[in-house]
Amino acid sequence: MPAELIIPIYVFIFLYGIVIGSFLNVCMIRIPRGESIVTEGSHCMKCGYRLRWYDLIPLFSYLFLRGKCRKCGEKISPQYPVVEFINGAVYVLIFIIKGITIESLLICLLFSALLTLSVIDFKTYEIPVGFNIFIAALGLIRLFTDLSNFKEYLVGAVSVSLFLLILLLVSKGKAIGGGDVKLMAAAGLFLGWKCATLAFLIGCVLGAFIHVIRMKVSKEGSVLAMGPYLSAGIFISALHGQEIITWYLGLLGL
Ligand SMILES: [Zn+2]
Repeated sequence: MPAELIIPIYVFIFLYGIVIGSFLNVCMIRIPRGESIVTEGSHCMKCGYRLRWYDLIPLFSYLFLRGKCRKCGEKISPQYPVVEFINGAVYVLIFIIKGITIESLLICLLFSALLTLSVIDFKTYEIPVGFNIFIAALGLIRLFTDLSNFKEYLVGAVSVSLFLLILLLVSKGKAIGGGDVKLMAAAGLFLGWKCATLAFLIGCVLGAFIHVIRMKVSKEGSVLAMGPYLSAGIFISALHGQEIITWYLGLLGL
């Protein structure tokens, strides 16, 4: 790769990331309300002003309008630019870490799905099944780009998820939700069984640790949405799973 192309490529990846990020905002806000994510145009929540194309440029429209509706001046939620920026910045980060590869693109799309389903799970305690189907599809693409290891991925789809399914049945749905089982099946297909196991362990540790703090600080109830924690584990494992596993086995002298 010629050095003078690196910066334009990262700029392009960032712009691509914020455009996808603006679609994620639509999903995060409309899916919990049961609204369509494609048919209806965006409008101001207060005055009903229908946003034109120049009001919908990710990140830049918000900055240009200083976070207010063009017509009535109502404040626009900072969630819009924040999600757009995070999605763009993380895309660039993934490509820096993993190089300009198909794998990086797949991890970017995985990240977007995880970010969105985490917000929705946090709000509604449910993971819409479409996200799990999407992640499973990414997993299938990954399997086909790495066919010599196909067993690793197929076992990954059932290793953690089967354990969780048994937990779900034994606890009659109290210990874990059906959405979490499907999420770990889809993510397992993407990650392979070793990284899927690691993702689940990271998710459990993060979940236990952060939830205890939240229960203490904000008197949060004991109901725990596992989606955001599992998602964090899945993302960390997708980026650095192999290195973490190699490092850990090294500690054990294996
Ligand atoms: Zn308005």
